[in-house]
Amino acid sequence: MAKHHRGKGIRHLVHRGRGTCPLCQRTGVKLLYTLVRDGDTLTVCKRCRQK
Ligand SMILES: [Zn+2]
Repeated sequence: MAKHHRGKGIRHLVHRGRGTCPLCQRTGVKLLYTLVRDGDTLTVCKRCRQK
């Protein structure tokens, strides 16, 4: 199950997985990880995933 956030595997996502991360506000990053925070589900980039 490795690399399932890379390459063709993310092309089905909205904008092919790219967008603005709600946490770090970077644009054009791939939003690959869902994070549940205060009852909301956020889709964040890999840098925000660990927090
Ligand atoms: Zn981020």
